[in-house]
Amino acid sequence: MSKECDVSDTIVLGAGMVGVSIAYHLAKRGRSVALVDRREPGHETSFGNAGIIQREAVAPYAFPRDAKTLMQVLPNRRVDIRYRPGGMMESAGALLRYWQNSAPAAYARILPEYASLIGLSTQEHAPMIAAAGADALVSRNGWLELYRTAEAFEARLAKVEPLARQFGLTYERLDRAALVEREPNLSEDAIGAILWRDSWTVSDPGGLVAAYVEAFKALGGKVIKASVASLEQAGEGWRVETDAGPLEAAELVLAMGPWSGDWLGRLGYRLPLFVKRGYHMHFALQEGRQLNHWVMDAEVGYLLAPMRAGVRLTTGAELANRDAAPDLDQLDAAEAVARKLAPLGARRDDTPWKGARPCTSDMKPVIGPAPSHEGLWFAFGHGHQGFTLGPATGRLLGEMMDGEAPAIDMAPFRADRF
Ligand SMILES: Cc1cc2nc3c(=O)[nH]c(=O)nc-3n(C[C@H](O)[C@H](O)[C@H](O)COP(=O)(O)OP(=O)(O)OC[C@H]3O[C@@H](n4cnc5c(N)ncnc54)[C@H](O)[C@@H]3O)c2cc1C
Repeated sequence: MSKECDVSDTIVLGAGMVGVSIAYHLAKRGRSVALVDRREPGHETSFGNAGIIQREAVAPYAFPRDAKTLMQVLPNRRVDIRYRPGGMMESAGALLRYWQNSAPAAYARILPEYASLIGLSTQEHAPMIAAAGADALVSRNGWLELYRTAEAFEARLAKVEPLARQFGLTYERLDRAALVEREPNLSEDAIGAILWRDSWTVSDPGGLVAAYVEAFKALGGKVIKASVASLEQAGEGWRVETDAGPLEAAELVLAMGPWSGDWLGRLGYRLPLFVKRGYHMHFALQEGRQLNHWVMDAEVGYLLAPMRAGVRLTTGAELANRDAAPDLDQLDAAEAVARKLAPLGARRDDTPWKGARPCTSDMKPVIGPAPSHEGLWFAFGHGHQGFTLGPATGRLLGEMMDGEAPAIDMAPFRADRF
């Protein structure tokens, strides 16, 4: 017997931070919404990240262009960035455009656009945190961008100051003494830090997504655990075939993070997408020692996040095929450096977590209507800041789908910019 077709106003494919936030906003607007994922919500990229709601991240990560950094990247031994030639080949076109968009003139155009989106980040998380009763997961004490050399610290501060002025960010410069007051157990390698005051940290990123899902359900939203097998236009709307049966709706939102590209190709779109993979591992703290803040070792390129599950070490970027087997050298290299900086004890996970940041060649997510299909909407490519930008994306897409004027200009984020 064939399974009955589930019918809603809108289907949202992908229940990471982005899809869940969209589903929440659409349900709040009175739509019947089916949120579909093959796993429990928030169990992929939105689970394994560093958990910072990055209000400070107005400047997206550019491709390094100075000769010194490139020469250091080439031998493939840096902690912050590694590459695997196969992965570079597969994404060569998108990476070339990423490189071009990182040139000063192009980047200067992109930065204020990106900042306009980041400007909504904490403000849009706040009501969702309240609706989800998830305050206990969120800390509003900021995070530390830590430096080892006076030269790099001063150079970074010189860049930060005008950005903070232009985009209204608040930060504190902590010299060694002020840093030790906050973090008494960091080694002497740490000479100072920037305390980003406007940003929030989350002690269980997957847990926050799960809490948002409960808020969505309380609005009447439906969660369907199913793997998508195909999607097609049917009559006035869309039909999605899944392993749990068919679904139909007038409108369809594609929010499948690093898997979005798999479906775009089938619909005839060629967008410049690629992934930056990352790993994490949890550690115990040594007996009687503490780590009070999220700390990024900025000159090395990894992050330590004191979460519920332990101190989560997250790595920088690995340019590799999304599905290639893990290569744990980068994580091991980060761990070796981190052990000299912070009082890490034993590893807590049997195997490291691996995920993939869904990136675009101009560093901005794709949010808006599909250029050639009525009733199809895109929301993916949030790169390094998808955990930060989920709720803002939900609000903006809701406004666009209901034909309202969005809170910010969405032209820089629509798919037809490519
Ligand atoms: C190491 C690391 C650290 C990071 N740190 C931060 C940070 O501190 N702050 C920040 O803002 N961002 C951070 N990020 C980035 C952030 O995690 C991502 O941008 C974000 O999670 C992307 O969310 P998403 O909802 O688009 O994708 P995902 O969370 O990956 O969700 C996509 C969903 O689609 C589902 N799916 C895929 N295919 C199918 C199918 N066929 N059928 C059904 N379902 C399917 C998947 O199961 C998945 O749940 C980090 C990323 C990494 C890797």
